[in-house]
Amino acid sequence: MWKKNVLETIGNTPMIQLNKVSKGLPGTILAKVDYFNPGNSIKDRMALKMVEVAEQEGKLKPGGTIIEGTSGNTGMGLALAACVKGYKCIFVTTDKQSKEKVDILKAVGAEVIVCPTNVMPDDPRSYYSVAKRLGKEIPNSMYMNQYDNLANRQAHYESTGPEIWEQTEGKITHLVCTAGTGGTITGTAMYLKEKNPNIQVWAIDVYGSLLTHYYQTGEVNMDYVHPYISEGFGEDFVPENYDMSVIDHFEQVTDKDGAVMARRIAKEEGLFCGYSAGSCLQGLMQLKDKLPSDAVVVCIFHDHGSRYVGKVYNDQWMMERGFLDVKTFKDIVNGRQAKRLISVSPEDTVAEAVALMKKYDIEHIPVMQDGQPVGTVSENGLFQKVFSNADIKDAKVGSVSEPSYPVVDFDTPVERLGSLINKETGAVLAKDEKGDYHIVTKYDVLQSLAK
Ligand code: PMP
Repeated sequence: MWKKNVLETIGNTPMIQLNKVSKGLPGTILAKVDYFNPGNSIKDRMALKMVEVAEQEGKLKPGGTIIEGTSGNTGMGLALAACVKGYKCIFVTTDKQSKEKVDILKAVGAEVIVCPTNVMPDDPRSYYSVAKRLGKEIPNSMYMNQYDNLANRQAHYESTGPEIWEQTEGKITHLVCTAGTGGTITGTAMYLKEKNPNIQVWAIDVYGSLLTHYYQTGEVNMDYVHPYISEGFGEDFVPENYDMSVIDHFEQVTDKDGAVMARRIAKEEGLFCGYSAGSCLQGLMQLKDKLPSDAVVVCIFHDHGSRYVGKVYNDQWMMERGFLDVKTFKDIVNGRQAKRLISVSPEDTVAEAVALMKKYDIEHIPVMQDGQPVGTVSENGLFQKVFSNADIKDAKVGSVSEPSYPVVDFDTPVERLGSLINKETGAVLAKDEKGDYHIVTKYDVLQSLAK
């Protein structure tokens, strides 16, 4: 039987066991993979619910306008609901967000207003003020306010919670979930704890967010708040959707650990999930000593990796933030079995150099004199000369050699080597701590990046 519209495909997402990335954790580790929703995130559930409740309460009437401050998943969910139900959508976002995000929302029919990031929330230009003002000015419009609109957590109470209970046949012992507006964790936990009050609910937060300290002390202390890179969770205030009494623990994760774990989930499980899914599983790893051997853990994976291809899934982005351990020339040399540099002297013959190339299956040989590089012989270079000099094999290397390879620092990062090695140079050299030279070729660099 077909679906009557895209909104009917929201929810009933799969529960998938993690098998490799969860090694070392006791019990059974399951992921509720909510990127299977049509808007690629769990937020489709609450977006639809917020619209339905607004309709029931008469706040949104046919032809009305949905307004929200969002750049991401909630916007996508609201836009889908608006398409099917015939509403207009205006999303207000900040100039910090990527152009792609804005274009995606426009693609599904939304109007997007971009506001400056660096203004206080009460400044009339802030995205928060603009969204509120539009909600008042535009007739038959509603500012959805996902933070304080309790239809948000209600959606998870009605769908996410029951699905998890049924998919685990009531065996779930732990719920692990990143927390932003609080809608997902609160609504899901409220349902599950009604079914079994012993279920442990662990909220995953990010360093720089206010939530963990607030949970632990009940105090709103902005000293704990600082900018962070993780996306979708953590807050600098406490939204109305929270009911902290259904949460048993708050755990903070670093930006780096969450990003690295997201990449592992994609590589090891084939689940191409978003940043917060990585943080969620990382948070669980940090808490593994609290898990009994028969635990049945459900982690919620909120959204899809495609939103993060320019970020978490981009090596350059990861390296610039210190999230990927940078490999260097030295690492490549240390990873080799044979460390001795194969070289020739200017007095050796071309035949001897070619024999070495054959023996070691290499294309480049440095020409060394008194321990210093003075030139290069390469397969390519010799091939060019064969045509003008038929007796080249008896020639001295010194008479046919090309300029020496660039010499770099032993600690030069691999990415930098990539830009130094080109068609002409083919390789680079560096001196180790003892003063001995080593070579790194294009092939070595490619190999090291593939690892
Ligand atoms: N992860 C992602 C990717 C999200 O978009 C959100 C929603 N802001 C969350 C986690 C946190 O969910 P919630 O707002 O329901 O607490």
